Amino acid sequence: MVVGDIATGTDVLVIGAGPGGYVAAIRAGQLGLDVTMVEKNAYGGTCLNYGCIPSKALISATDVAHNAANAEDMGIHADPVVDMQGMVAWKDGVVNQLTGGVEKLMKANGVNLMQGTAEFAGENTVRVAHGGEGQGSESIEFDSCIIATGSRPFEIPGFEFDGEHVLSSREALALDEIPEKLVVVGAGYIGMELSTVFAKLGTDVTIVEMLDDALPGYESDVARVVKKKAEALGIEFHFGEAAKEWRKEADGMTVVTENEDGETSEFNADKTLVAVGRQPVSDTLNLEAVGLEPDEKGFLQTDDQCRTDVGHIYAIGDVAGEPMLAHKASKEGHVAAEVIAGEPSALDYQAIPAAVFTDPEIGTVGMTQAEAEEAGFEPVVGKFPFMASGRALSTGHSDGFVRVVADEESGFILGGQIVGAEASELVAELALAIEMGATLEDLTATIHTHPTLAEAVMEAAANAKGEAIHTLNR
Ligand SMILES: Cc1cc2nc3c(=O)[nH]c(=O)nc-3n(C[C@H](O)[C@H](O)[C@H](O)COP(=O)(O)OP(=O)(O)OC[C@H]3O[C@@H](n4cnc5c(N)ncnc54)[C@H](O)[C@@H]3O)c2cc1C
Repeated sequence: MVVGDIATGTDVLVIGAGPGGYVAAIRAGQLGLDVTMVEKNAYGGTCLNYGCIPSKALISATDVAHNAANAEDMGIHADPVVDMQGMVAWKDGVVNQLTGGVEKLMKANGVNLMQGTAEFAGENTVRVAHGGEGQGSESIEFDSCIIATGSRPFEIPGFEFDGEHVLSSREALALDEIPEKLVVVGAGYIGMELSTVFAKLGTDVTIVEMLDDALPGYESDVARVVKKKAEALGIEFHFGEAAKEWRKEADGMTVVTENEDGETSEFNADKTLVAVGRQPVSDTLNLEAVGLEPDEKGFLQTDDQCRTDVGHIYAIGDVAGEPMLAHKASKEGHVAAEVIAGEPSALDYQAIPAAVFTDPEIGTVGMTQAEAEEAGFEPVVGKFPFMASGRALSTGHSDGFVRVVADEESGFILGGQIVGAEASELVAELALAIEMGATLEDLTATIHTHPTLAEAVMEAAANAKGEAIHTLNR
């Protein structure tokens, strides 16, 4: 300890106030533990400040304008004008309301809040450096520590984020002017979501992707629906091309890409968004001081109680491995806090849903048909197109389908893939079905409200049984 340090003690120290860390801190507080939360930046972490919430706020706002401008079939003629500064201010208001709420909830649950950057100084000690010159630092002694430091965007060589020409998702979500031309490097979910936002705002968007398709990790028929709509929005795709370098121009920048054969192409843009994935933040914690070593990708390895190899240190959320999703981080936060409090808690991921908020949305959970076959099941599959849904047609959003994968013999729901309007909400029904051990029979026997998109889930289950009413059976 440095002379002049103030040393405090706590039962549980949580590093990082994202959806992993703040949930862990609140839960630990509820269980009567003395909890200290250290956050170097903003409460709510990536999710509330630079990720899920601001991106979804902008997606919703641009949808309002886009839907109004494209409702002539419904007899609506409108030409909305987007005031980007107003839109961003509204988005910031949503973020501030939520981050303020998180701070209040932590305080109400007795969590001691500390602003600063934490670094391990020993097996039971962290040093917290307060921001800025002369702000000092302090040491905290803990019994247990939960590392919830999240992730940061990957940079690619030659494309270091400068906030002006080369942007990460964080800066792209804070632009107060609509770019005329945007190059997006990476057609993963973040690249696709933000491309959709800017295309709807009138930006000329070009996506450059090293692989040969968009949305890797999603089945091709699911990705195809999104890609087709993206192209209809004017987004141009260039697959099999890697971003190589860029140069400044009088009117913006030129991005140079290269394909497998070494052929290059050039794209002119105002700005480039690099969205090629995220890496765990584990390299700034001085982990050697506690004897922890991340894997070669930087992730901390944990058991089913979120415990690392060092028994009293836990890791949750993005820093603890894929999938890097807010709800997975929160679930792990619950478990870590409960285990520390002596509760019989452990991770039981029956299935982790995932959503992509493109147009249309994607919602997936559990196994695909191929994964079910690989796992030794004899899957039966049922599908229902939104084109056959009264609700989808009456809202003007009839692209896509629901697919349900079940075990043929037992009828147990194994997974589902939805692409279409509200897929992010609809997938919750399938997640619950998997968690509850529900069968195709349970889904079809459940009376669904009419007319709703959720009926499509019931119809897909009926189709798997060969009993669909509103489509031809398989
Ligand atoms: C554009 C975008 C859109 C996304 N959309 C979705 C979505 O729709 N759905 C979804 O589920 N997920 C989404 N995600 C992913 C989601 O944001 C993350 O999975 C989630 O935030 C991870 O939570 P976490 O608690 O592990 O870490 P984070 O939210 O990253 O929080 C970590 C916190 O730790 C702090 N910290 C780091 N190091 C230190 C230190 N040494 N000392 C003190 N504090 C420290 C950081 O400042 C940060 O606040 C999105 C991400 C991005 C970037």
